[in-house]
Amino acid sequence: MDKIKKAAKLIINSRHCVAFSGAGISVESGIPPFRGKNGLWNKYNPIFLETNYFIANPLYSWKMIKEIFYDFFGKAKPNKAHYTLAKWEKSGLIKTIITQNIDNLHQEAGSKNVIEFHGTSKILTCVNCSKKYDVKLINFEKLPPLCKKCGGLLKPDFVFFSEPIPQQALDNSIKEATEADLMILIGTSGEIMPASQIPYIAKEKGAKIIEINIEKSNYTNSITDVFLEGKATEIFTKLDKNIL
Ligand code: NAD
Repeated sequence: MDKIKKAAKLIINSRHCVAFSGAGISVESGIPPFRGKNGLWNKYNPIFLETNYFIANPLYSWKMIKEIFYDFFGKAKPNKAHYTLAKWEKSGLIKTIITQNIDNLHQEAGSKNVIEFHGTSKILTCVNCSKKYDVKLINFEKLPPLCKKCGGLLKPDFVFFSEPIPQQALDNSIKEATEADLMILIGTSGEIMPASQIPYIAKEKGAKIIEINIEKSNYTNSITDVFLEGKATEIFTKLDKNIL
């Protein structure tokens, strides 16, 4: 059977389908991945995302963070892959999205049940008093942004290199992976620990794995049942036509 038809059938017949997305799903929204040929870390040294460096060098760190995550990422809009997942959630075809992304594009496309494994760029938290701020209310003209309550340094609510995964996101992701009978991996290399373990948990608990990527990943020859090679938007367009 044609691979697209096979995957569509698995999605239609699933009981608890979970999507697991990585940077690749947002590439066609204009956000490059971190690693690989056109990765951001070929252009920037990511030292400013180390917690100790950030605290010691807040002005330089914030100049870089603003340029990459707010001036640049901030303009991105969801694409066909994000919108199709939101539509499938609404029609009951998928239960949850676990995303490693911090760009909020799943939510902007209309998805409700989203676990942000690495946090979000849309909230800032004071490192001193923990007060949270919606990024829309922050004036980036004067850097670094400071807490209005205590004057402490504000930090984006996404996971920096030395930080642990938010406990609730980790617990909920493991729960979803355990309950899933189907997991769809989209644009993820499987190289980022501990996020990369989530699909292995799903597979171990009996889930089938559909993988969408422009090239083979760590998962393809180990746990993937149906590998759909291509850009996320193109594959979702084809899948959706077979699901309607
Ligand atoms: P990653 O594991 O997220 O890898 C990206 C994967 O996407 C690669 O396997 C690549 O082959 C694939 N890909 C590229 N273009 C694609 C397309 N059009 N369609 C389908 N697949 C495509 O690794 P990373 O980029 O090194 O990211 C590291 C971490 O940082 C991850 O947690 C990632 O989610 C996060 N990150 C988030 C964003 C974002 O919020 N948009 C951007 C960059 C990185």
